[in-house]
Amino acid sequence: MIELLDVSRTVTSGASSLTILHPTSLTIARGRIAAITGPSGSGKSTLLGLLAGLDTPTTGTVRIDDVNITDLDEEQLARLRGEKIGIVFQFFHLIPSLTALENIMVPLELSGVRDARQRASTLLADVELTGRGHHYPSQLSGGEQQRVAIARALANDPPLLLADEPTGNLDSATGRHVIDLLMTVHRERGRTLVLVTHDRELADMADEVIGLRDGRVVSRQERA
Ligand code: ADP
Ligand code: MG
Repeated sequence: MIELLDVSRTVTSGASSLTILHPTSLTIARGRIAAITGPSGSGKSTLLGLLAGLDTPTTGTVRIDDVNITDLDEEQLARLRGEKIGIVFQFFHLIPSLTALENIMVPLELSGVRDARQRASTLLADVELTGRGHHYPSQLSGGEQQRVAIARALANDPPLLLADEPTGNLDSATGRHVIDLLMTVHRERGRTLVLVTHDRELADMADEVIGLRDGRVVSRQERA
């Protein structure tokens, strides 16, 4: 369960300050798929960054499974992310100097998994990239890179998966493949998914759609 209470974010540069997320309260129940939609610049990535503990709210609190993540220090946050949160970024964010397999191994090694290489190979197979493990990100297509990024996000089998426009930089057929993969994870493992998306097809699969505009939640649709 994710719970935001009066969470806002204001950024300052020099003398001016800009509120990019106005005080927002919302809850997302465990095992749900929530889609965050809205025009470019409406605060979607900001909201996701706050959920992930990558950004600090200016006001309010974020709770994940009854842990107030706003109270945690950097090290505790990093540990919580490692255990509980998988993050998929729009531009994949793979480490260019590491192979596909090594990228997937990073979170496993950080959490001290002993058979990291073996487990990463299994994950690579789950995203249908067996045989591509020795390739560097620059040798992979956008869709392949995004599948590596998903495998990396799933490495520690986190209960919460956050994805920021995961199909935003993919052609529609490749995007479809990535959507199927995310839905499979949700269905087979009962994981909570929070997706930022412009993709109608992806938003249609969500249990709830949270609409943002100018840093405010302006709509919330729930499906039975
Ligand atoms: P979205 O993901 O919906 O496109 P963002 O959350 O990335 O929107 O950004 C919302 C607004 O906040 C944008 O106008 C963006 O330029 C601004 N913004 C985001 N991060 C910062 C920052 N660190 N400093 C200043 N402005 C920012
Ligand atoms: Mg964004």
